[in-house]
Amino acid sequence: MKKDIATPARTKEILAKHNFHLKKSLGQNFLIDLNILNGIVDASGFTEKDGVIEIGPGIGALTEQLAKKAKKVVAFEIDDRLIPVLEDTLSPYSNIEIIHEDVLKADVQSILASSFNDVEHIHVVANLPYYVTTPILMKLLEERLPLKSITVMIQAEVAERIAAVPSTKEYGSLSIAAQYFSEAKKKLHVPASVFVPQPRVDSAVLKLTIRERPLVSVKEEAWFFQVFHACFANRRKTIMNNLVHNLVGKEKKSLAEEALHRADIDPMRRGETLSIEEFAALSDELYDLRN
Ligand code: SAM
Repeated sequence: MKKDIATPARTKEILAKHNFHLKKSLGQNFLIDLNILNGIVDASGFTEKDGVIEIGPGIGALTEQLAKKAKKVVAFEIDDRLIPVLEDTLSPYSNIEIIHEDVLKADVQSILASSFNDVEHIHVVANLPYYVTTPILMKLLEERLPLKSITVMIQAEVAERIAAVPSTKEYGSLSIAAQYFSEAKKKLHVPASVFVPQPRVDSAVLKLTIRERPLVSVKEEAWFFQVFHACFANRRKTIMNNLVHNLVGKEKKSLAEEALHRADIDPMRRGETLSIEEFAALSDELYDLRN
């Protein structure tokens, strides 16, 4: 058996053999450190009975480590130049399916149904392309896919924002959106030196454990999302001002006042001090008053 893909020498050899040039615009920063890959696999906690979805296999560094431990791996890769490379590098493994598609456009739900019919749980494990981290995570969460967890390498700063608690500068609409669907934990801090080419920022491994039910129950989910997004539109403004300027409009100021009063929230507070439960209460009061 050949050496693992994720070593500097083997990666260099594969890139040269296929005359492959990395595309910055596709977020191609490949991992060349086995310890980090093992750290990602351990953080995910999947078992040999589980299926794993990977987004962006690149030349297969992580895919190979996933295939050694999982029952089956399904990997979405957008770059057509990588398909023959993956066929070559992953040829020793029979439990990998590569799907040549943009994950943002793919019908992930039906692919899961057809590709994972005999696994215990399904997990996402990926070193994400940084230019589309948030849209990919939100798609995976909002589509309510039957996932147990999502473990991803992302920019450290984004991981901190997702896992943030109220009254910190990192806390915002991304924290609420992710924590509504999952329990978020930053697992590892990763230096830029374990990638080729090295990204300009540090990275982190984030694990999202999917909740069976969302953290709070609200009358209308889309409205709840609109409400908290509006409250963070201008972080320096009070919650009252944000609601008036970004949601209800000046002529309905009294509606915002009444909803804040009923939800027992001081209108002078800033969005970043509100818990997810308080946003849910506010959203429901506004929903009732609006209808
Ligand atoms: N998994 C490999 C590793 O860890 O070395 C590569 C990770 S690299 C950060 C991101 C990968 O995602 C690249 O292979 C890139 O071509 C792919 N990619 C970028 N945008 C994508 C998209 N929208 N859908 C699927 N794959 C995408």
